[in-house]
Amino acid sequence: MENSFDAIVIGGSANGSQVANVIASKGHKVAVIEEHPTTGLPEHCSGLFSYYGLERLDCMPPSDIIFNDDIYGSRIVSPNGKILTVKKPNKHAIVCDRAAFDRFLLDRAIQNGCEVFQPYRAVDATRKDGKVIVNIRNSDGDITQLTTSLLISAEGIRGEIATQLGIPEASNQRLVNAAQFYMNGLNEVDPQLVEVYQSQQWATNFFAWVIPMSDDSAKVGLGTSNKHASKELEKMISTHPVLKERCDGAEIRRKTAGRIPISGPIKRSYADNLLLTGDVAGQTKPTTGGGVILGGIAAQIAGNVASDSIKNNQFQAQHLKKYEKLWKKEIHSNLKKMQLVRNYMNRLSDNEVNQFFSRLETKGVLKDIEELGHVDNQGVLVKKFMRTLSLYPFYIKTSVKLIKSMI
Ligand SMILES: Cc1cc2nc3c(=O)[nH]c(=O)nc-3n(C[C@H](O)[C@H](O)[C@H](O)COP(=O)(O)OP(=O)(O)OC[C@H]3O[C@@H](n4cnc5c(N)ncnc54)[C@H](O)[C@@H]3O)c2cc1C
Repeated sequence: MENSFDAIVIGGSANGSQVANVIASKGHKVAVIEEHPTTGLPEHCSGLFSYYGLERLDCMPPSDIIFNDDIYGSRIVSPNGKILTVKKPNKHAIVCDRAAFDRFLLDRAIQNGCEVFQPYRAVDATRKDGKVIVNIRNSDGDITQLTTSLLISAEGIRGEIATQLGIPEASNQRLVNAAQFYMNGLNEVDPQLVEVYQSQQWATNFFAWVIPMSDDSAKVGLGTSNKHASKELEKMISTHPVLKERCDGAEIRRKTAGRIPISGPIKRSYADNLLLTGDVAGQTKPTTGGGVILGGIAAQIAGNVASDSIKNNQFQAQHLKKYEKLWKKEIHSNLKKMQLVRNYMNRLSDNEVNQFFSRLETKGVLKDIEELGHVDNQGVLVKKFMRTLSLYPFYIKTSVKLIKSMI
């Protein structure tokens, strides 16, 4: 086994595969280290991706792993059960098999020449003489030593290796716990509309969702800052006025779980011999928890910067900081606006959210949401909301919470 690589990527999930694919396709020697034996498992995602994002990343999945390619918008459910429907004129998103999507992305990188160590866990990484030495361990406990000039952490929220190499924030993000059930036999699901349930009582500091795979099957999930997301979801399914109706008589086929970073981008995503991309860098939308499209944009930028660094043999932080400049230019202001929205929403009581819903409905703001709402570029709508005079009485009433969210 040849143990020296131009670049090594920790993590063979969506963003690790994106970055590895760019580096491999430019002819460099790159390896991905993935600890789980089957790529994509355990599953930790709803697989809801926008057409815009998939096209931008040039990674539209094959049709046999798409459950539903027909999402036009959403039904937003207020804490008191009022439903607002927002539907765009064109198809906006797909729902796919996320585990299969990860395999599709990793296979593509492999076809371009990427090597994969799997199942191998990166246990530690240290800098030595301008290189990084990475120890990886297989399931028998055997250790193999790999060397590279450039390590890319796409290791998700645990962030252990990035922390070892001097970015402690990577393993210290604010997270919500999430549970998701695959359910069959649901009632009155509109296969074109995702359902979003906003409520502090039911889904503290996040929200719950029904993501349709057909007109009677869906991924039903919930994120919460409380500990036991799965129990909270079971409780919500059996007691929430709207969700209970949806799920009455339905069957839970499979349960999945995961954690979602909601604190926004970390302060620094590079160091000597190191780049961070995806959840580990907080490139995840604090509003919805989506991390595949924006993370993928950053991952592809990381791949290009890595390739330049390899060509020029420049791996010091002063050269790698170009990565941060480039990804921030693309997605940072968008992420920061979403972070503000998440902070604000998490401070509002259910009563206040009910009042906000009434304003959205009565003041015709729904039209703006339909026009400007974009699952990946929510910043535009946030800007519009900040300038919508009819919402000002609400902002003034909750001004202390709004100001606290900003700072
Ligand atoms: C319930 C839920 C629903 C979601 N739904 C959506 C959605 O619909 N759309 C969307 O865009 N996003 C969604 N997300 C978020 C999305 O799943 C993440 O943002 C995305 O997976 C981040 O990808 P990543 O490659 O950065 O990290 P991860 O997917 O976390 O991958 C990190 C990989 O690194 C590996 N790894 C970690 N440490 C090591 C190590 N030391 N050695 C070897 N391997 C290691 C892990 O095994 C893993 O495979 C959801 C998240 C949850 C929890």
